[in-house]
Amino acid sequence: MTEADVVIIGAGLAGLGAAVAARNAGKRAVVLEASGRAGGRAWTDYPAALGGVWFDMGAIWLHDAEHNPLVPIARAAGDKLLRSDEIRKERTFIGDRMANEAELADFAHAWPRYEAVADAVLAVEGDVSLAEVTRRLPDDPWAATIEAWEGPVICAVDADRFSALDWRRNALGGSNLVPEGGIGAFVRRRLTQGVDIRLNTPVTRVRWGGSGGQVTVETAAGSITAGACIVTVSTGVLASGALVFDPVLPARVGDAVQALPMGLAMKVALRATGPDRLDLPLHCSVDRIIERSGDPLMPFQCWPFGRDYVQGWIGGSVAWDLARQGEAAAVDFALGYLRQMFGGRVDRLFAGGASLVTRWDADPWVRGAYSYAVPGSALARDALAEPLSGGHLMFAGEACHVGFAGTVAGAWISGQSAARTALAAVGD
Ligand SMILES: Cc1cc2nc3c(=O)[nH]c(=O)nc-3n(C[C@H](O)[C@H](O)[C@H](O)COP(=O)(O)OP(=O)(O)OC[C@H]3O[C@@H](n4cnc5c(N)ncnc54)[C@H](O)[C@@H]3O)c2cc1C
Repeated sequence: MTEADVVIIGAGLAGLGAAVAARNAGKRAVVLEASGRAGGRAWTDYPAALGGVWFDMGAIWLHDAEHNPLVPIARAAGDKLLRSDEIRKERTFIGDRMANEAELADFAHAWPRYEAVADAVLAVEGDVSLAEVTRRLPDDPWAATIEAWEGPVICAVDADRFSALDWRRNALGGSNLVPEGGIGAFVRRRLTQGVDIRLNTPVTRVRWGGSGGQVTVETAAGSITAGACIVTVSTGVLASGALVFDPVLPARVGDAVQALPMGLAMKVALRATGPDRLDLPLHCSVDRIIERSGDPLMPFQCWPFGRDYVQGWIGGSVAWDLARQGEAAAVDFALGYLRQMFGGRVDRLFAGGASLVTRWDADPWVRGAYSYAVPGSALARDALAEPLSGGHLMFAGEACHVGFAGTVAGAWISGQSAARTALAAVGD
């Protein structure tokens, strides 16, 4: 294989961000991608089970749209961004009834209170688990539900395993936009142009620290030697040992990878077989208040964009358990969850209907949904992003960003930043 200024491992958002930065700087970048498609965890599919409509298997939203660097790219290209927050209706259940206005107002006030307690505990005690924050609010009836949203639902990890500092450093505000046609389709359409991507080319070994900092990466199709290398694979792949580094990486990198494991978020979509719409408006979010810390919370998006399916989202250890049990168990779990709110009509509505379960746990090139920091290790993200070999070897990806960790924006920014460092190391 040929030589390049920079070789990039992985064609997800970080790899594409790095490649676009190199291209814009007039440098030759080659992106090696193990799977048969670009985009990584930004993947729009058209599943027959859902009637062939576009469906994002991984990322869906451009979060914090006001600060998200992918939003101006989409706008400049004339792409339509759907205002998901504005069109969304919401229904929150307490047991099998809908919460009333006063309860919803109380719940809304509980969020800033929870955040303030987290900040106060972190300021005095340093990094603790998210579950520890909840324990400081023993009489707050909403704290368990807030914990479930911020832990398993949003960050794909149980609260007792999750660093509260990592949560606070990466909590996102602003609005959420959805590229019409799917985020994965947007990425392929707008972010891969003019980029040299070699699909179906898993890298097996990275030889770094050669003369002048040169790096050689090995694949079954041959080797590439470049002035610098940017590694963008997930921490799940790094921890698996599928990629061998020669010489062995310094201990601080291995420690950072161990401190940033992959959480799991699983989507379960159920297609309706009849006209019943559960008395819900189109594009309606349904969730519920849970009573105890650790109880599962599975929010549903019902009839998104007017479609004929509901899509549930479950994260953390429940998602890993369901992944081990298989897709039928995940469908049963989703049906059981809906039954608690809507009763037996759920069985009539979805009986015999098609379903879809996302399986990021089983993708050997990802091995989970996105990274979280374990309690006490929030600074591992900064450590993983530090240059090696004077910038000739860089790690990038969602795990390496602080602010937008775990998102497409974080991956993109981290890839661009790693490219700037790597290109500076390579020089003219
Ligand atoms: C279910 C789910 C929902 C999500 N929802 C959102 C959301 O709404 N909004 C949001 O912003 N983010 C969301 N995310 C997170 C977002 O998708 C990721 O943070 C982001 O896409 C990660 O990009 P990356 O480049 O860091 O990694 P990846 O996308 O994983 O890219 C790394 C690439 O490296 C490749 N690779 C692995 N091993 C090798 C090898 N040995 N050789 C060559 N290539 C290799 C992989 O195939 C992959 O393509 C979600 C993720 C999931 C799974």
